[in-house]
Amino acid sequence: MAEPTVDPALFDKIVNLCKRRGFVFPSAEIYGGFRSTYDYGPIGVLMLRNVKDQWWRSMVQLRDDVVGIDAAILSPPAIWEASGHLATFTDPLVDCRHCGARHRQDKLDDPDVCPTCGTRGTFTEPRQFNLMFKTHAGPVEDEGSVAYLRPETAQGIFVNFSNVVNTTRKKPPFGIAQIGKSFRNEITPGNFVFRTREFEQMEMEYFVPPDEGPRWYDYWCGERFQWYVDLGMPAERLRLRAHEPDELSHYSSGTSDIEFLFPWGWDELEGIAQRTDFDLRRHAEHSGERLDWFDQASGERYLPHVVEPAAGATRTMMAFLMAAYDEEEVRGETRVVLHLHPRLAPFKVAVLPLSKKPELTEPARALASGLRRAFMCDYDETQAIGRRYRRQDELGTPFCVTFDFESVDDGRVTVRERDSMDQDRVAIDEVESYLRERLEV
Ligand code: ATP
Repeated sequence: MAEPTVDPALFDKIVNLCKRRGFVFPSAEIYGGFRSTYDYGPIGVLMLRNVKDQWWRSMVQLRDDVVGIDAAILSPPAIWEASGHLATFTDPLVDCRHCGARHRQDKLDDPDVCPTCGTRGTFTEPRQFNLMFKTHAGPVEDEGSVAYLRPETAQGIFVNFSNVVNTTRKKPPFGIAQIGKSFRNEITPGNFVFRTREFEQMEMEYFVPPDEGPRWYDYWCGERFQWYVDLGMPAERLRLRAHEPDELSHYSSGTSDIEFLFPWGWDELEGIAQRTDFDLRRHAEHSGERLDWFDQASGERYLPHVVEPAAGATRTMMAFLMAAYDEEEVRGETRVVLHLHPRLAPFKVAVLPLSKKPELTEPARALASGLRRAFMCDYDETQAIGRRYRRQDELGTPFCVTFDFESVDDGRVTVRERDSMDQDRVAIDEVESYLRERLEV
């Protein structure tokens, strides 16, 4: 199958749209911005929340074998000593002696050529650079007060394994899911929110009997791939790529990445890893606590093996935006539209009175406040109706409801669908059920 092509200008278009419409702003912008850090605006916060909610729905709500937790971000060195992150969570850093640019050696196209200045053979020897953010808890900045910002959410799950087992009656195979911020002092953050130093992860550790690892690994590769497709990502812009042995993380006996075709090429959205019993074993050794599972029925005792689907919420949101972005010619004008799955769309509906006259705005506002009880609903009475439609198209709003002068007489409104732009006249008191039937939310 021929690989789909991606408009090289798509990246700039998305960055621009994000800023213009309130999805993502550069952080601390009034002070000149702050090193690849971003803030999610009024629209972006809705969409990011939807991405996380959809993950939670499929991983926790719809299953009886997965529970959630929300662990602390600040964590003691002991956790990272045990997990191996203090020793091995490093990237190889090289400096160009010619231009001073700093690069991650394992991400260079040619390991001898500086991509910043193009010079060959000017790199320093690689140094291993630990990616964890180190800080101090409490007023005294000494060795005893060192704390780390977690670089992944997974360890908060492993250290709570016994707590969860003891409080939920779950037994392998079962999972513990978590969504939250992680921090990595990336050498080369970039590509907008693709690689940032502060980001959000959606991770699940699935604990299984030791001989069942490979089976569940296959299962989760399939499930997770389908999640993106079900939320509207075209399957031809996704692929599952197994890691080469030299790519594997220190804890993994097998990993596959779900990759998306970004404007710069295929890149990772999510990794599905067989972490074996590495983490539980290490935490048991380091803490002195028993972290094995005791099967009362068979009298068997074992350390569960773990399959981990680990996705990035912020990175995934950008991929959904890129997959949904479209430009169409409509009556000689370019219409920018986000064909977002309704579950991901920031607003499900917008109510637009045709004029600012109170005889329209009052009932339109009443309709909007009724709909708000069911869906995120925008209300907009400024500018010409065509421009308001365009704005909602750019936000990916699946339906617009227009309240016009006839509506006052006949109690009906015009409902316009985003993708087809088809319009329907619908009785005001039926708008909510009309939308419910079509929104799949
Ligand atoms: P990479 O090789 O790109 O540095 P990784 O393989 O170390 O990433 P994981 O540790 O598997 O990444 O993290 C799981 C997921 O968390 C990634 O698939 C990605 O979606 C997200 N993620 C990791 N690092 C970042 C980052 N710096 N910014 C945004 N998202 C990230």
